[in-house]
Amino acid sequence: MSEKSTPTHTGRVPLTLEGPRLDVLDKVPSLRKVLAARSFQYAAMIPNLFVFMVLLPAGLWGSPVGNRNISIVMVWIFWWFILIAILVPFFSRIWCLMCPFPMFGDWLQRFRLIGVRNEEKKPGKIANLYSGLNKRWPKRLTNIWLQNIGFLGLCTFSALLVTRPAFSAWVFIILVFLATVLAAVYKARAFCNYVCPVSGFLSLYSMASMMEIRARDEVVCKECKTKGCRVGSEDGWGCPWFIYMGKLERNNYCGMCAECFKGCPNENISVFLRPFASDIGIKGYDEAYKGFIMITLAMAYSVILLGPYGTIKDWANISEVGNFGGFAIYAAILWGAALVVIPGVFAACAWLARKAAGAEATAEFKPVFLGYSYTLVPMGLMAWIAFSFPLLLINGSYIVSVVSDPFGWGWDLFGTAHIPWQPLIPEYLVYIQIPLLAGGLYFALKRGHQIGQALFGDGPAAWRALIPIGTFCSVATCGFLLFFAG
Ligand code: SF4
Ligand code: SF4
Ligand code: SF4
Repeated sequence: MSEKSTPTHTGRVPLTLEGPRLDVLDKVPSLRKVLAARSFQYAAMIPNLFVFMVLLPAGLWGSPVGNRNISIVMVWIFWWFILIAILVPFFSRIWCLMCPFPMFGDWLQRFRLIGVRNEEKKPGKIANLYSGLNKRWPKRLTNIWLQNIGFLGLCTFSALLVTRPAFSAWVFIILVFLATVLAAVYKARAFCNYVCPVSGFLSLYSMASMMEIRARDEVVCKECKTKGCRVGSEDGWGCPWFIYMGKLERNNYCGMCAECFKGCPNENISVFLRPFASDIGIKGYDEAYKGFIMITLAMAYSVILLGPYGTIKDWANISEVGNFGGFAIYAAILWGAALVVIPGVFAACAWLARKAAGAEATAEFKPVFLGYSYTLVPMGLMAWIAFSFPLLLINGSYIVSVVSDPFGWGWDLFGTAHIPWQPLIPEYLVYIQIPLLAGGLYFALKRGHQIGQALFGDGPAAWRALIPIGTFCSVATCGFLLFFAG
């Protein structure tokens, strides 16, 4: 695909780049039937629900040793790698299509597992019929701050999460409980949109994904009388993520449930392939902060897991070492870095970028700061993928043994329980990680320049403004390189 994606100088960053798109349903029309089938989402969810039903008791009652328990190995090694290295970059939020956490809440709201329940509001006017209180989510919480704080909070206890099966299991139980209770009180997927801690980084990094669900023709949407994608129809529930397809420009908050394929009477929705990092508009500080939090956490985990700093490792590892004072210092450094230091340094770079642009810098500080904060998306996603490769290749052999002995009780279901731990090609890891980091930096700089063009025009100002932002991204990438290669 060639790329035509130079935004025009408006002083504002466009939400998405006008690059080439490949209409998948045009090429494979039979896929529409699959997406429009009412059972489609449940066919994807139910196998995961089944897996969850094995992982949960394993977490609660299985071996307390992380690498002997299937709940830890499958979630924090296998699932995490598949999610961050394959699903998000290539298929956007497709995990949300098959995630079993909101299933009970969906059922509470709909009283249907697969079908649609409708009522006749006025003669001849059909509308979806929901159960539960169906309240509006509070307006001041209509952002991802709760997700940011929840995710940072959970990640502060990452040592517990990835080593203590019971801790992980209770976190999952609490999340399912919250998803169900919030579904009983609030409209649609309020939990997914505003609370789920996983959702925050899925939404941010799905901006880079090479797949999107969009309307084929905005004019058809404008003229559409039913707006079935948004409000529902006889065949489909209204979008559980509150999206009107005619105005959808970014991947962030589309949970890919495919409900709109059932509700659109005009076959005007499709799945498109597109260039990497096509959605470039960060809308608010909540989204920008998600980028800072993710970069900080990737750095922190690199230091803890890959660096030679025994003291910091001990501080973070509260479950093994029990040094509460040290843990408090670690938590304070982590939160301070994610919420103050890294955003502060980036804000200084954005301020310098505006100064460097000179007379052309008609844009205010806020759009410059938010605009350039997008550079953290391709850079951060690639850094997380690079970080996750050793997780899979070094620890992946545990997967083979725990499937035979999921609870760590001495079973040997498939005869693989006693296969010893064997790291896979550890000496070549760095050759995978370096191109990934270099690719992340390349896209950060390329999109950074395009963002500069939108803010300051096509001239040299966009290049001058890129210097401080590019320096920030390059230093961060060198930091990752140091930990991975060092
Ligand atoms: S937002 Fe969270 S709970 Fe909702 S579907 Fe996605 S991962 Fe699952
Ligand atoms: S129902 Fe279809 S045509 Fe109508 S607004 Fe939604 S996507 Fe557009
Ligand atoms: S726009 Fe809404 S209904 Fe359509 S796939 Fe995305 S979340 Fe589902």
